[in-house]
Amino acid sequence: MTGGLGQAGGRAWVYGEGVHDEPIDPFNGDPADPAAGLHDPGDDTGLEPLTDVERQDVLEDLADLEIYQALLAPIGVRGLVIECEDCHEPHYFDWDLLRGNLRHLLSSGRPRVHEPAYDPDPDHYVTWDYARGYADGVHDTLTESGEDDTDSPSA
Ligand SMILES: [Zn+2]
Repeated sequence: MTGGLGQAGGRAWVYGEGVHDEPIDPFNGDPADPAAGLHDPGDDTGLEPLTDVERQDVLEDLADLEIYQALLAPIGVRGLVIECEDCHEPHYFDWDLLRGNLRHLLSSGRPRVHEPAYDPDPDHYVTWDYARGYADGVHDTLTESGEDDTDSPSA
C-alpha cells in the first residue's frame, strides 16, 4: 500500500492547477508557449522592395513636391494634408516631412505615414490635388502670358 498516491513521479508533470497523473505537453495550449512568438502576424521581415514603377512614382512625387513647395510656400502654405488610409483622418505633413517620407519610402520600401506634423494649423495645409491644380494654373498663366496676351484679364 505504498504506491497509491503520487505514483510514477506524477508531480513532475504538475504544471498548473488541475493537472492529473497522465503526462501532458506542458506547453499545450499555454499562451506562454515560447514558440507562439515565432509567427507573429505583425512581423514585417517579409517586406518586398519597391518595383521600378513604384520607385518612379515616388521620384515623380518628389519632383512635384519641389514644384509645389516653391509655388505654395511663398503664399503661406506649410505642407500638404493627406487623408490617411489607416485611420481615415487627415494627417498634416510639412514640406520637409513629406520629402523625408518619400525618401524613406525609396530607401526602405515602406511609408512612414504616421509621423504627421506636430500641432498643425489646418489653414496652412492644402491637399495634393489642390497643389497640383495650383501648379497647373500657374503653369497655364505663365504659358498664356508668354505666348498670347490678347485676352488675358488684368491681374
Ligand atoms: Zn493615420
